[in-house]
Amino acid sequence: MKMIPNINCYRKDLIPRDLDMSCAQNVKVDAVFLSHAHMDHVGNVGLLDVNIPIVSSQMTAAILKGMMDLGHSQMGLEVAYAVPRKASEDDGRIIETEHYKKASFIRDKLDFEFKAFEGDHSMYGATAYAINTPDGWIVYTGDLRLHGRFKDKTEKFVREAKSLDPKVLII
Ligand SMILES: [Zn+2]
Repeated sequence: MKMIPNINCYRKDLIPRDLDMSCAQNVKVDAVFLSHAHMDHVGNVGLLDVNIPIVSSQMTAAILKGMMDLGHSQMGLEVAYAVPRKASEDDGRIIETEHYKKASFIRDKLDFEFKAFEGDHSMYGATAYAINTPDGWIVYTGDLRLHGRFKDKTEKFVREAKSLDPKVLII
């Protein structure tokens, strides 16, 4: 339905038997950095292969886990943990939950340098990142503001990000 990119990095247990993934573009994903728990930033992250590390602040992880634990979750939001699915034995086009809370995937592990910066936003846990690459630092601001109670955090991030002399700035 073209609601998500046609790339080959999604959870295998969510792909129904009748979905042809042979045309999906192969991409190498080292990690996904979440700035905060607003839906426009995390909406489909839970669809990604569970072997892709997810980076977030502890607050963002706690908010996302809380949403799942309280049942206000959907498959695309299974970020803190994921409920394994399998194809139905009756109809392989149907994906089913094996048993809720029976087992879960845990995402972790990274082997490259990055820095996380607390920022100010309308959601607790807002975080900006700087990722060190062979070509230089890449800075990702996430959402931030300079008019909130914690605007000093945003200002501190801006100073520290500038001191890295980043090659790329993603806003
Ligand atoms: Zn936001």
